[in-house]
Amino acid sequence: MKTRLSKTEAREKIEEFFKREDFTSEEIKKMKRMAMKFNIRLDGKRKLFCKKCLSRLRGKTRVSKTHKTVECGICGERNKFKIK
Ligand SMILES: [Zn+2]
Repeated sequence: MKTRLSKTEAREKIEEFFKREDFTSEEIKKMKRMAMKFNIRLDGKRKLFCKKCLSRLRGKTRVSKTHKTVECGICGERNKFKIK
């Protein structure tokens, strides 16, 4: 890679990426790496993909008082998110 990104550019790229309807685990890995490199917090975007298989998270959602759990439709992993 010859282009060096600034933090702002990296953030824009990440924003753009997560607007997409679909993505592969490979692409997620790249985005996570980029976010880490630039110290960008993914926060809300973490809800968009499964923490185990990294595919787009679609599945059953269960909500408790403190957490929201989304069961991954692909690998069955329960992704837990705190409710703010
Ligand atoms: Zn999964």
